[in-house]
Amino acid sequence: MIQTAKGTYDILPSDIHKWHYLESIIRKTCELYNYQEIRTPIFESTDLFIRGVGKSTDIVTKEMYTFKDKGNRSITLRPEGTACVVRSYVEHKLYADLNQLTKLYYMGPMFRYERMQKGRSRQFHQFGVEAIGSNDPSVDAEVIALSVNIFRQLGLKKVKVLINTLGDKESRKQYRQALIDHFKPVKEELCEDCQKRLEQNPLRILDCKVDKAHKAMKTAPMMSNYLNEDSKAFFKHVLEDLEQLGIEYEIDHSLVRGLDYYNHTVYEVITYVPGFGSQNALGGGGRYNGLVEEIGGPDVPGMGFAFGMDRLILALEAEEITIDTKDEVDVYIVSTSDKTEIYAFKLLELLRKNYIKSEKDYFNRKVKAQFKQADKLNAKFTIIIGEEELNNEQISIKNMKTQIQDVISIHNVEKEIKCRMEDYDE
Ligand code: AMP
Repeated sequence: MIQTAKGTYDILPSDIHKWHYLESIIRKTCELYNYQEIRTPIFESTDLFIRGVGKSTDIVTKEMYTFKDKGNRSITLRPEGTACVVRSYVEHKLYADLNQLTKLYYMGPMFRYERMQKGRSRQFHQFGVEAIGSNDPSVDAEVIALSVNIFRQLGLKKVKVLINTLGDKESRKQYRQALIDHFKPVKEELCEDCQKRLEQNPLRILDCKVDKAHKAMKTAPMMSNYLNEDSKAFFKHVLEDLEQLGIEYEIDHSLVRGLDYYNHTVYEVITYVPGFGSQNALGGGGRYNGLVEEIGGPDVPGMGFAFGMDRLILALEAEEITIDTKDEVDVYIVSTSDKTEIYAFKLLELLRKNYIKSEKDYFNRKVKAQFKQADKLNAKFTIIIGEEELNNEQISIKNMKTQIQDVISIHNVEKEIKCRMEDYDE
């Protein structure tokens, strides 16, 4: 039997209502904040991610699904959304009016060749926003607020916002040097990746899971001691805005995030619901002044986030938040003989044209078995078509909740059903 490829999974009809619910809250909230949806291709030129995610990142060095197409082009299945959105922003010159904040959101599958575990797969789903064009710290606070509001609307309570600043270019440069000076003497004791990181992006040593317990980690210099005045003021402004908006946060000096292009604000939202497992980051984001230029656009700043939708579904389950399913049909048509069958099929289409969700039997079942099927599908009403009644231009309707059945004219079926549906839920 052929099964799903390693690292992928099917989202079955029995679970799809959770995804629809999540997607609808994401859409509604993003649009409330005046973000517009953008859909970019699933695959892009490999170069985009090398430039846009960063040569030294785990994503680029180890995790990309990269292949040559038949035209010998190097293609990569997108591992994340920001580089794609920024590519589109540059390609379509969405910056035409430079005094404008371009607010975009996306959702869809992403691909990373990672080690499998609970909450981590090779095809997963992210939603994210990108606010491109302004350097105002309030944009950072707004982006964070938007994500927190999505969590609130989903009903997730056991989540925490961790925030940090990486400062501007100048502060980062100073800090980078301090980290090199600090880790160089113990270079040989660090993992192979961190030895490389020391040359390429020493900040990311702080993120390393392998060297987490090394003594040099505990004594590593802190970014907060290397921030210049501008960077401090920027961060203060973001935090004050968050307080104004009633958003709780915790400053986490060790938070650096995996991607190369962040500066100033970085943040992450984690869940602390018991039993969630080690993959407890739901997502996060940060400011990426410099990325648009890196991808060939003008020097405009940006701020965004990305959250894992698969993990959000797991978090909903872990917090035992139930989502109603509308697993029911309005009408099930019971046909009593071959002669009533043609009319049953015609009626089915008429009901559907009138937005009444309807179903019938396709297996020549006996009447009793058709009623059983109606129950299985949680039908609100059954319509029973009998030969004699039909000759008199009549059919029967049965309310499956009250079990009350009455006879109506075949000329008013859709109106009768609509009327009864209004009363049904009262
Ligand atoms: P990142 O783009 O690495 O910052 O990831 C943002 C969020 O996407 C993470 O916090 C996860 O919720 C989710 N995510 C990233 N990689 C995976 C994966 N392999 N499987 C499931 N979710 C993931």
